[in-house]
Amino acid sequence: MKVVFLGPPGAGKGTQAQRMAKRFAVSHASTGDIFRRAMAQGLRLGLEVADYLDNGKLVPDELTSRVVAEMVIESVEDYILDGYPRTIQQARDLERMLLERGEALDGVLFFDIPEDAIIERLTGRRICAQCGANYHIVFMPPAKSGICDRCGGELRVRSDSSEQAIGKRLAEYREKTLPLVEFYDQKNLLRRVDATAEPDEVTRRTEILLRDVLMSRQTGT
Ligand SMILES: [Zn+2]
Repeated sequence: MKVVFLGPPGAGKGTQAQRMAKRFAVSHASTGDIFRRAMAQGLRLGLEVADYLDNGKLVPDELTSRVVAEMVIESVEDYILDGYPRTIQQARDLERMLLERGEALDGVLFFDIPEDAIIERLTGRRICAQCGANYHIVFMPPAKSGICDRCGGELRVRSDSSEQAIGKRLAEYREKTLPLVEFYDQKNLLRRVDATAEPDEVTRRTEILLRDVLMSRQTGT
């Protein structure tokens, strides 16, 4: 199984990718993990990646694709790509890299969720300044507002969850990643998952879709 999980920040695709990787016994290839592993192993590519990340810069498409090639495409048979491709350029790289090996993607799952739902999810995150426990003002509120259940510490907005930070991530997603939905739809690879449902329900639907992807691969339809 070679599939891509696509979706905006806050759609929960990372969680679903993790669960599906376990259920189908395939590799969960998240870009963040791949970068970390490449750096930890001291690979030449990893050092190049570190150079960008240490300076707070985005890793260029071309380098990202080379790392994914070495760490995933050339070394694992079955995988869920999570966070790659993120741009049209990366999607074209992926297509070419697979083609060169006589391979192809089996499917792309798009975790669909409206922006106001994303903003509600992401801006509601709180973290305990004292013990680091995570809360959500709507989905996982503390017993007493603003106070940690576990240690009585003060709850703060996570640094990645300010409206400004989220607005920036969403704008970038809209500009660079959203075009991939159309890209994969035209290739008849795209399947939509309603990501507004409860995580367990999303898991149930995702599993059904993945079984379907596997089935159509085996029957060649
Ligand atoms: Zn606490």
